[in-house]
Amino acid sequence: DMTIPENLDSLLKQVTGFDEFREGQEEVIRSVICGHDTIAVLPTGAGKSLCYQLPVHALGGTVLIVSPLLSLMEDQVAQLKMKGEKRVAALNSFLAPKERSDVLANLGRYRYLFISPEMLIQPYISGRIKQLKLAYIVADEAHCISQWGFDFRPDYLRLREWLEALENRPPVLALTATASEKAIRDIADYLLMKQPQLFIHPPDRPNIAMELIGLDGREEKTEWILENLSRWKGPGIIYVQSRKRAEELADLLRSRQISAAAFHAGMETEDRILVQQQYLNGELEWICATNAFGMGINKPDIRWIIHDHLPPSAAQYIQEIGRAGRDGGQSLSTLLYSESDADTAAFIAMDDLPEPETVRFIGRCAAEGMDIAEAGERAGLSETAIRVVSYWLGRLGTEKAASQMESLAAGKRNEIIAMVRFAEGRG
Ligand code: ADP
Ligand code: MG
Repeated sequence: DMTIPENLDSLLKQVTGFDEFREGQEEVIRSVICGHDTIAVLPTGAGKSLCYQLPVHALGGTVLIVSPLLSLMEDQVAQLKMKGEKRVAALNSFLAPKERSDVLANLGRYRYLFISPEMLIQPYISGRIKQLKLAYIVADEAHCISQWGFDFRPDYLRLREWLEALENRPPVLALTATASEKAIRDIADYLLMKQPQLFIHPPDRPNIAMELIGLDGREEKTEWILENLSRWKGPGIIYVQSRKRAEELADLLRSRQISAAAFHAGMETEDRILVQQQYLNGELEWICATNAFGMGINKPDIRWIIHDHLPPSAAQYIQEIGRAGRDGGQSLSTLLYSESDADTAAFIAMDDLPEPETVRFIGRCAAEGMDIAEAGERAGLSETAIRVVSYWLGRLGTEKAASQMESLAAGKRNEIIAMVRFAEGRG
């Protein structure tokens, strides 16, 4: 048994060189050191990484950080290494076989071990990790676990299977900036948390001004961007709906001698990492991106976020504008809005929301002994939608699950309208 240091300030100073904790950090760190399952909701830029980095220094052993995104993982490993930490490694599909076997050969030596959910459940790797002295397990960007998060990553659910199979489960720390009740319930649920300590600090970013510009369609938006880009300073991100639009805008900006690149999930991993790196290094002024860009990115001096479209949820919108001004400097977020945008956003939000009739159909199939996944495929549902249905069917039964779909659809629509009002109100 260990004694918990009265004062964590000296630990902070010794490990990071920082003089004081930022709001929210110390109590989260204390909770983890005390061995509690912990959920911390802290705004983007608040310093969540520190919450998982510090306790391991008091506890010893290895901290296992499960990360849903490759680029996020690479970024965090690079940051730790830059600060002089040598005992850090990442296990993901990006690793060359040689690197991977090096990491596995030295597994016990690492203080920080980052891993992707797919790697975690590979039997050999999983077996090796189970033999480690794990101080605690971290789920970063934990809202990706939630079925209703805009960033839902089915792969992340594998963490649960893995946790279930652990005999002596160490405490779990979940970190996210998304405070929706649903997301928090899902996180606690999926990570098998026992009475988690919950710390919530809602976002309050007075240094981000917001404006809403009413325009009529895509052409006008393009024109507005070209005419106004010099009005405020970069570096910036233009969030767009589609890969095609990302490419189109980036090309257009470059043709006007503005330093810009596209970023979307259709690009090769290497290209994405390159663009991200150039942007982080200040070699690129603008990123024209789909929502694939930005999660976990730590670039403190982003000055302007422009939305060329309306994101399908308020949580996504708030996360995206929250990437501006992490250094506290005055920043701007601009929503380019045309009348039909709310419909498009609602449509996209509901893309993975099955019709009540479909839920009933799948419920009947399941009652007859058919596999839910197979029934879902027959009904033409996406993989995400199948998981959604299977989740609600399991919890509520067929009838309640079907009506759940209706109230979720109505809720989505209201949320999107509220989001526009919100941007208007702060304009
Ligand atoms: P989040 O994950 O919450 O979005 P990060 O963990 O990436 O935020 O931290 C954002 C920045 O804040 C980083 O550059 C980090 O070094 C810095 N930071 C974190 N905690 C402190 C602190 N106590 N004092 C000073 N800087 C801090
Ligand atoms: Mg983070």
